[in-house]
Amino acid sequence: MSLAKDFSRLINCEENSSDKNKICTCMSCDKINNLSHPDFTIIERSSICSDIKCGSCKSSKGQQIRECVISENIISKSRFKPFMGKHKVVVVNQANYLSKVSSESLLKTLEDIDSNFLIIFLIENLSDIAETIISRCQIWKLNKISKQNTLEILLEKYSDREKDVAEIMSFGSPTLGEASDMLDDPIFFEERQEVLRRIVKIFNSPMSDKLNYSKELTLLYRKDKERVLHELKIWKNLFRKILRTEDTDENLETISILKSIKEKNKLKIKKNIENILSTENNLKFNAIPSLVFDKFIINLEA
Ligand SMILES: [Zn+2]
Ligand SMILES: [Zn+2]
Repeated sequence: MSLAKDFSRLINCEENSSDKNKICTCMSCDKINNLSHPDFTIIERSSICSDIKCGSCKSSKGQQIRECVISENIISKSRFKPFMGKHKVVVVNQANYLSKVSSESLLKTLEDIDSNFLIIFLIENLSDIAETIISRCQIWKLNKISKQNTLEILLEKYSDREKDVAEIMSFGSPTLGEASDMLDDPIFFEERQEVLRRIVKIFNSPMSDKLNYSKELTLLYRKDKERVLHELKIWKNLFRKILRTEDTDENLETISILKSIKEKNKLKIKKNIENILSTENNLKFNAIPSLVFDKFIINLEA
């Protein structure tokens, strides 16, 4: 997102300043910075269209990027020239959440697009977006920042929270974005502790309790999809962390416990990770949540 914003500023900048270290304050750069530029739009899953009566926008929280938002901000706008800048730019954040209809509605626009209109799709994984979209785009791959670099950047940004940063970095291999999200989220640490306690409890309880947990997940999923996905991520990261014990630099006691778990249960841990990945995948393709969570629970290797 930072790169997309910088790029949008650069191609619309009125000053062409040669000093790269100075933040440009021309009207265009200023307006893009505070998101008030008429030719610069960011589309998110939570974006709604301007029609206050729109049924699609009224219904629940944005699980997918809405078709009306795409139609209003991309398809309609593509017919007009930029209003004040040289280029009109639309950034679609988390483009993997484009609905099937949204993706299909974009194809024609992507084919006929004018050179002064730029659409930037941000996506973590290319396999999560329709092939028909990819084939109409230019692909810029960004390399993942190394763990060491991520750590350095985080410590600079959150210099007063060394302990929290260390904790997050020991938690799988988060990307810089994921790590910042966690650090900016006040309930993250609390919630994670609670989920970890629940995981330990689930492993030690009879099947009936496990199935109750599945029911809880189903109910929660109806209310708040994101939270359940977050919970699955905590499960996944826990198992991954056990598998990667060697490259964490926690205290020796924890390492020796994790190592002994790992030695005895490597195969089971791998199966559990696969189980979670397939659960996430099934949810993504809209399988019936209660069945998905039952399957997840039944397949857990204790
Ligand atoms: Zn400028
Ligand atoms: Zn709408």
